[in-house]
Amino acid sequence: MPYSILIVDDDIAIKDSVSEYLKAINYDVKSALNATEALEILNSFKADVVLTDIMMHGMDGLELTRRIKESYDIDVMVMTGYSAEYSYENAVQSGASDFIFKPFRFEELDLRIKRVLREADFKKERTKLLKKLEKIAITDALTGLYNSRHFFAQIKAEVDRHMRYSRALSLLILDIDFFKNYNDTWGHLEGDKVLMGIGETVNSCMRSMDTAYRYGGEEFTILLPETKLQKACLVGNRIKDSIRSQIFEPAPGTKASVTVSLGATELVKGEDFRSFIDRADKAMYKSKDTGRNKLTYIIS
Ligand code: GH3
Ligand code: MG
Ligand code: MG
Repeated sequence: MPYSILIVDDDIAIKDSVSEYLKAINYDVKSALNATEALEILNSFKADVVLTDIMMHGMDGLELTRRIKESYDIDVMVMTGYSAEYSYENAVQSGASDFIFKPFRFEELDLRIKRVLREADFKKERTKLLKKLEKIAITDALTGLYNSRHFFAQIKAEVDRHMRYSRALSLLILDIDFFKNYNDTWGHLEGDKVLMGIGETVNSCMRSMDTAYRYGGEEFTILLPETKLQKACLVGNRIKDSIRSQIFEPAPGTKASVTVSLGATELVKGEDFRSFIDRADKAMYKSKDTGRNKLTYIIS
C-alpha cells in the first residue's frame, strides 16, 4: 500500500506542484489550502505524513502541528522560506519531525519524507516488539496463564484497589494431589500435559473478571475481584470437579486423571496481601491434610 501524504500550503502553486510530484512517485496525496481544511481532511484521511507550510492565513503551521500531534500519531514536516523567522527549534518544539526550507528540490523532499517514514516504521516495530516482550514477561510458557511475577503485581494492585473502594476480593489456591507420583509413573512430559490441561480447565471454569496464574510448579492461583467467599467457593468447586473428570492418556490405551486440593479465602479490610495469600495457603493445606480432592475455606 502506498504511503499517504497530506500537503498544506496556502500558496496554490507550491501545493499543486508538490502534490503532482509526490503523486508521480506513487504517494497517495491529498492537499489543503489552510490548517482548518487540513484538520477536516484528517478526520477521514489516514495520512502517514503531513507536510505543512508554516506561515499561512488563519492557524499557522506550528499550531496545526501541535493540534495534529495532540490527536494523531502522524509525522508532521514543516516547510518555511529562508527569510521567515521560524527556527528549527520552534518546529521541533511543536512536535514536527523535520524542517525543510523553501525553495527545495523535489528529490530532497522525497528523501526527507522517506527518512521520516523509515523512522516511523522503525518506531512501530519497536513498539510491537516491546508489547510482545511485555506479554512474554508475564506469561507462563507451559500453560499460557499469567506467571507468578504477574500474580504478585496484580494481587498488590487488587488489594489496594479493593481497600480503597471497600469491594470484596477473594483468592483461590490450587495444588495438584500426588503429582509427584504422576510424574514418577508417566514421566515429566506427561505431567506437563496435565499442567496444560489444568490451565485450560481453570480458564474455562472462571468468570470473565477472574484471572488465573501459575503460581508455582504445580500450584495455581485465581484472583476473583468483586467476589464474596461463598461465590469464590462455588467457582473453586466447579474447577475441582472439572479437573477430576478430565481424562488424560499418558500411554496408549491408558486412562488417568488427577485431583486437586483448593484453599479459598476473602480479603479482610486493612490486611496486607501476604497475610491474604497465607490464609488461602493454609486453607489449601487443610484440604491436603483432610483427604485431598476438596476445597477448604477460611474466614479470617
Ligand atoms: P501433594 O498432594 O501433597 O501436593 O503431593 P505432590 O506429589 O503433588 O507434591 P510434592 O510437592 O511432593 O511434589 C510436587 C511435584 O510437582 C513434584 C514435581 O516434579 C512436580 N512438578 C512441579 N513443577 C512441574 C512441572 O513444571 N512439570 C511437571 N511435569 N511436574 C512438575
Ligand atoms: Mg505443591
Ligand atoms: Mg501437589
